[in-house]
Amino acid sequence: MPELPEVETVVTGLKPQVVGKKIVGFKDSGKNLRYALPDFALLLQSPILDVTRRAKYLLFHFENGQTLIWHLGMTGQFHVLPTNQAEAKHEHVTLTFQDDTSLRYRDTRRFGYAGICATDGLSKHIWLSKLGVEPLTADFNAKHLQLMLKNKKISIKQAIMDNAVVVGVGNIYASESLFRAGILPTTASQTLSLQKLKKLNHNIKDVLIQAIKAGGSTISDFVKADGKPGYFSHSFQVYGRDGKACLVCKKPIQRIVQNGRASFFCTKCQS
Ligand SMILES: [Zn+2]
Repeated sequence: MPELPEVETVVTGLKPQVVGKKIVGFKDSGKNLRYALPDFALLLQSPILDVTRRAKYLLFHFENGQTLIWHLGMTGQFHVLPTNQAEAKHEHVTLTFQDDTSLRYRDTRRFGYAGICATDGLSKHIWLSKLGVEPLTADFNAKHLQLMLKNKKISIKQAIMDNAVVVGVGNIYASESLFRAGILPTTASQTLSLQKLKKLNHNIKDVLIQAIKAGGSTISDFVKADGKPGYFSHSFQVYGRDGKACLVCKKPIQRIVQNGRASFFCTKCQS
């Protein structure tokens, strides 16, 4: 499943390929994604001003005051291809531009979804209104974590994966940042000192920035906007490494299931 770094990579890849272009036509496969598709006619003939990201949503901002919101679900991919290039398998939406290129949305499992909203009403949109702070902004700091966690009776791993606390910290990056911060994923979140939270906050940012720099991971059949796979997975220190030697102390990495999701950690390096 694409996590925040992958979505950021897709945004970065798409931006130079779509900004300034106008949609002149659209078609879909007739199959719904997770929800019914929006009316793409609302976007016709209006230039794309920018592509941004909020949590794991891609936001295409149009000059006419509309924003196309897109979530990639489990297996969503975007490609910008020549309009005359034949449709690929599982291509569910084609947005045709004025310059003989088109934006194709491919999604084998069809868990992705899209919507259109007035740009000035985005913060109130049902998909976006309850989202917490972005992890790579100054608003996400140790004090914020302390405030959000002080009354929570959940594990720290569950807490940092809660979108109301901070958005975009998925299962992989939660395990990785907790390892780097030396905190067991099962630790009760409200018991962590401000100093520990500082370390965790720093490591969450660091792990995400490194992943973005590396172009996102290859955990699923995710592909970057330019069609090349990302390559962060080689540098996971604990995720998916159960039974293998800890890269720091050589003790075998442990795996447990928390809230239905696998957690990986080292009992010597994390406490
Ligand atoms: Zn270790």
